[in-house]
Amino acid sequence: KKKIAVMTSGGDSPGMNAAVRAVVRTGLHYGCDVYAVYEGYEGLLRGGDLLKKMSWEDVRGWLSEGGTLIGTARCMGFRQREGRKQAAGNLITEGIDALVVCGGDGSLTGADLFRSEWPSLVQELVKDGKFTAEQVAPYRNLTIVGLVGSIDNDMSGTDSTIGAYSALERICEMVDYIDATAKSHSRAFVVEVMGRHCGWLALMAGIATGADYIFIPERAVPHGKWQDELKEVCQRHRAKGRRNNTIIVAEGALDDQLNPVTANDVKDALIDLGLDTKVTILGHVQRGGTAVAHDRWLATLQGVDAVRAVLENTPDTPSPLIGILENKIIRMPLMESVALTKSVADAIESKDFDKAISLRDTEFIE
Ligand code: ATP
Repeated sequence: KKKIAVMTSGGDSPGMNAAVRAVVRTGLHYGCDVYAVYEGYEGLLRGGDLLKKMSWEDVRGWLSEGGTLIGTARCMGFRQREGRKQAAGNLITEGIDALVVCGGDGSLTGADLFRSEWPSLVQELVKDGKFTAEQVAPYRNLTIVGLVGSIDNDMSGTDSTIGAYSALERICEMVDYIDATAKSHSRAFVVEVMGRHCGWLALMAGIATGADYIFIPERAVPHGKWQDELKEVCQRHRAKGRRNNTIIVAEGALDDQLNPVTANDVKDALIDLGLDTKVTILGHVQRGGTAVAHDRWLATLQGVDAVRAVLENTPDTPSPLIGILENKIIRMPLMESVALTKSVADAIESKDFDKAISLRDTEFIE
């Protein structure tokens, strides 16, 4: 009987619970035993109660719950080989050799590394006397399947990540609230949204709320000159009768010399223009609350496919990542997607913003 474990790792995102629910129930449907790993990689390292066998009822009602009910953590121990060896031992103790990880690129990189080291970790466990060669014989390979849970929509090769549309919805709702008071007082508001290396949330929120100006990391603004352009745009909109200005700033926004552009920098420019300007940093409300319908069905369909991918996996298949492209659930090599994601950050770091934008593969940035 196949034993599959499912876990969430890295930053939480709305829809992770729907993903766990789908993996648990699909696994049970196919006759597998399904375990939830609580507290991210910390749970793999500590084992015991943090590896819990799940029943159909255990995930009842999870579709509409925000956050991740099985917990998540940043785990330093899993970055060390010794920690991963301990994790391998705990999985073998429970008889588990397949792991579905829902997390960001860091979590998925860690998962793939774990898979590649698995045979040598198992050998070491035998050498250390923790298991006999007979005991580990059925655990030659570890199957890893990745689901991308992230509000940033920062993973290359997939159109949307689990949680991104929920965060976007929340941001738009908040900007609408802010716009109402801004119009009343004829004010300008600078709204900072999440997105350290990826401007998707800022860009989409800006389009959806009709913002005057959007700052994102991929489209760095000209150093020392952006202030004038911003002022010109806001003035032009005011001249057309607009009573408020909305500027959306991704937390990772940059100028073309790689200096951060912060919400307060933007505020200073607008005050200079004579606008009564306030800053709102949305922070963790963007992660909170329930998942929108998009994230619920995306997580469900991807969770179902993750189990199928586990069952179809052979030792020669590279770890798959379940994505969505042009409305179809797809599988791609996990490490290819991670490498592509890293190349966007590298392009930004080397000031090749055109490359960063082309790698993002979105027609919206221009
Ligand atoms: P988010 O996008 O929300 O930041 P993430 O999955 O990228 O999510 P990280 O903090 O990068 O978040 O990773 C989560 C955990 O995954 C880490 O705390 C660590 O335990 C594990 N991890 C990350 N990178 C590696 C790595 N290169 N090797 C081993 N483990 C890793």
